[in-house]
Amino acid sequence: MKIIMLGAPGAGKGTQAKKIAEKYGIPHISTGDIFRANLKAGTPLGLKAKEYMDKGALVPDSLTLELIMDRFANPDCANGYVLDGFPRTIPQAEALTEALKKNNDEVDYAIDVDVPDEVIVNRMSGRRACVNCGATYHIVFNAPKVEGKCDTCGADLILRNDDKPETVQNRLSVYHEQTQPLIDYYNGFGKLRSVDGTKEMSEVFDAIVDILENKESK
Ligand code: AMP
Repeated sequence: MKIIMLGAPGAGKGTQAKKIAEKYGIPHISTGDIFRANLKAGTPLGLKAKEYMDKGALVPDSLTLELIMDRFANPDCANGYVLDGFPRTIPQAEALTEALKKNNDEVDYAIDVDVPDEVIVNRMSGRRACVNCGATYHIVFNAPKVEGKCDTCGADLILRNDDKPETVQNRLSVYHEQTQPLIDYYNGFGKLRSVDGTKEMSEVFDAIVDILENKESK
């Protein structure tokens, strides 16, 4: 099963992607997480990506594609994957389509987690991320058990640079300009499905499972 999660930054696609990965036993591939891991490890890729990420801009396609194609070569991708944060531009989507076509393959679904901008801005200001393992929380909707500490590893939780209000606005503009066109792109292939991302996390997940198991009422 090959699934793409679409939606604005903060729409909750990362949370849903993790749940899908767990339920179907496929890897959750987040380009944002991979860039952050590289940044933490101080690799040249991480340092290059940082200049773009801190501004809320997209990392150039060439760099992103090199990274993701390398990831696809990993044996854990043999039964599919759920992509979170990739593709984010039309050239990235076209490169993915082409790479899959070489193996007579295609994505199964592109799932758009739909949330209006004003809800996103509200949500992102409450988002906190673990400095150590990258797990994400929300001070209201998904609070850690101990304030300011990660449930998984106990490290400190911080507001990521790219979740700061001035950056969020920029990320939303970038999303509308560069990523939203993917909705039409995947609709053109009959692969697009939309879910209402303003609902409870568990309801959004149920709607996604219905789609993946072809039970959606259309
Ligand atoms: P995310 O955690 O998915 O919101 O990603 C955080 C940041 O990483 C983005 O704001 C971009 O700077 C960068 N990034 C992640 N995925 C991509 C991608 N597919 N193309 C370009 N930049 C990306």
